[in-house]
Amino acid sequence: MHDAVETHDWLTKDESRKVHFVKDAIVLHKSSRSQEWLNWGMRVVLAKNYIDNLREEAMKGWAEKLAQGWMPAPPPPGYMTVVRDGKRIHHFNPETYRSMQRIFQLMLEPQYTIETIRHKMTEFGLVTGKGRPFSKSHAHRILTNPFYIGTIRFNGNEYPGKQPHLISEELFNAVQAKISRKRPAKYRKHNPLLKGVMVCEHCGKNITWQLQKGRLYGSCQRKLEARKKQSFVREDAVLELIQGKLDELICPSPEVITWLTTLLHQDFQLSVNNVEEAQKALDERIERIKRMDDMLYDDKLAGLIFGERYQNKHDSFISEINDLQKQKGGISQEYETKYMNGISEIELSQDAKQLFADENTSSDDKRIILTKLFEKISLKDNSVSVTYTKLTQAIARNSGLSKEILGYAK
Ligand SMILES: [Zn+2]
Repeated sequence: MHDAVETHDWLTKDESRKVHFVKDAIVLHKSSRSQEWLNWGMRVVLAKNYIDNLREEAMKGWAEKLAQGWMPAPPPPGYMTVVRDGKRIHHFNPETYRSMQRIFQLMLEPQYTIETIRHKMTEFGLVTGKGRPFSKSHAHRILTNPFYIGTIRFNGNEYPGKQPHLISEELFNAVQAKISRKRPAKYRKHNPLLKGVMVCEHCGKNITWQLQKGRLYGSCQRKLEARKKQSFVREDAVLELIQGKLDELICPSPEVITWLTTLLHQDFQLSVNNVEEAQKALDERIERIKRMDDMLYDDKLAGLIFGERYQNKHDSFISEINDLQKQKGGISQEYETKYMNGISEIELSQDAKQLFADENTSSDDKRIILTKLFEKISLKDNSVSVTYTKLTQAIARNSGLSKEILGYAK
């Protein structure tokens, strides 16, 4: 109640000062009767008490909620508040939790930063309560919130939470590592970019890099008996080749990208239909086995089958059902992951050249770009070959085509 004390000091310093309390019809000034001052003081004390009580009550409520494993505040995107057994708890929001899972996965892709991922969030319909896009700092808060892996952060402390985990701890930690990663070291000469990315065509081992007169040279470590001479390749020459390959991926007309994405989507839709059919078939088999198990039980009741023999047959039915259930869950997930990866690879292919040339892109991210977009980068004697993946091969071919049509070709 600092304000009240200040009000008193302020009033008693100067006769002409007055404070009007409109609601209470009291006017205080220095020569106010002591009764009025007393009233004022009482009010201040009561108000202070009232506020303290409120805070205490609220704290008690919070503490109780926290002790029960629930956060006494609105949950981050992907969750919603539901009432269960009269209690307000947090559970997945069926409309947003998949998108939020996807955002965490995407955050590991080299083309995404907090700044760019927040646009993706808007695109996925993950927005503030007022329907506005998240600010950069808000997006940062969301992506670093351990709520997603079962920890409630509240008033500067952490508490174990009972909300379901939205993502694995592994994914969460990987995202944290990326977010907190410092700017790439300037001394990348000690950490060759192509380390672990380029292989020897002869033996399949990684090319090793060494510094000579300020330049990095790569070669195969294995000295094969058959080949006495060891060939070296200059790192900058390989990087130049790679940049050329990344340039070939860029489509001058966005229609090509739209077309590819649509194609991929159709492919996905087809697989979804196949999945649904496959799942229906599995469901039917499960039902059939259940009926057989029921009949077996009837036989047991009728005394047609006994003890151990019944148990063995029954167990084998149950294990078969479990296997089928497992199969059912696996297929749809697999197709979806493939599709999502395809989409993000197409996106990456368009930004890769610029990202690769940017010195703010970390070496780790650059290596991810290379391993995602190229099937293989290899050295054979004195020649380096860079092989696209099936998808990037298609993009390059179609980009080249549209460049020619549009007259970009040199
Ligand atoms: Zn070799």
